[in-house]
Amino acid sequence: MLTGLQVAFIGGDARQLEVIHKFAELDASVTMVGFDNLQSEFSGVNKKKLEPDWFGDLHALVLPAVGTDDDGVVDTIFSDEVLRITEDHIGRLPKQAKVYTGMAKPFLKGLCAKFDIELVELFERDDVAIYNSIPTAEGALMMAIQNTDITVHGSRSMVLGMGRTGLTMARTLQGVGAEVKVGIRRPEHFARAIEMGFDAFYLHELADRVKNIDLLFNTIPTMIVTAQVIANIPHRALIIDLASRPGGTDFRYAEKRGVKAMLAPGLPGIVAPKTAGRIIANTLSQLILDDFKNGRNKE
Ligand code: NAP
Repeated sequence: MLTGLQVAFIGGDARQLEVIHKFAELDASVTMVGFDNLQSEFSGVNKKKLEPDWFGDLHALVLPAVGTDDDGVVDTIFSDEVLRITEDHIGRLPKQAKVYTGMAKPFLKGLCAKFDIELVELFERDDVAIYNSIPTAEGALMMAIQNTDITVHGSRSMVLGMGRTGLTMARTLQGVGAEVKVGIRRPEHFARAIEMGFDAFYLHELADRVKNIDLLFNTIPTMIVTAQVIANIPHRALIIDLASRPGGTDFRYAEKRGVKAMLAPGLPGIVAPKTAGRIIANTLSQLILDDFKNGRNKE
């Protein structure tokens, strides 16, 4: 239980409601900011304005998936109010308090560093990234189904990258009966891909290997699907780029050549907000509980 812990949630989307629900269940003292338009009420949860004066009581400050933008503004879909985190807020946090978010931009990193407040980026954790890869792969599959006139079963599909998302994507495609090629750069990943029944190839062969594909899923967060690669892709093919913005595809050249290419960020929050929220809720509650047990967050 999180009895006695003061936790504030600022902004977010449907995922954050799952997290708040879990923390309320675990008996934390929960404060919500930026949920004015929310119809349903959470029992035992305080709604407050974003005033710095109560930050001094907090053990944990929880921000949404993308903590703040480059000006400190926190995204919320449940309020018309602009929520801006400033030095006044972070500077009031007790030294042992922590700030939790999905991933942080330089603004938030700088602010926390300035006041020596620990910042925890949940999406950097392997467990969270692996759990999140499940709704990501399902969402990508949905996009492929919606944007093609063939079945994924029997399609010549390609996945670039065999990290946490790439591996799940490749297995998901294999599960529905696609022929799956996987582009990788490390010999140990090559060996694993072969063991799993994929048609593995090294990325330096990419331009040659795309010649007869139907679907391409990129998970490599660097320019990899270049104009030279796209020039060899059949016009019928669909590129779904899952890598974080700006993706790894030359979208300008794809459009020029008439190859359909889509950047698909944030799929877990779009296709499965409840599951994505539970992934965050379970990890975050365990993390905070461990800290609490270790006495790090005790007053
Ligand atoms: P990851 O586990 O780090 O995997 C990244 C893969 O890219 C690895 O196979 C890595 O190869 C490869 N790679 C990285 N830089 C490369 C380069 N310069 N050349 C060749 N290969 C390179 O990351 P992840 O968790 O799978 O996430 C992948 C991307 O998807 C990230 O941008 C992440 O933000 C994004 N993402 C998007 C969604 C969505 O909804 N669209 C959801 C989750 C994640 P090595 O193993 O050899 O380093």
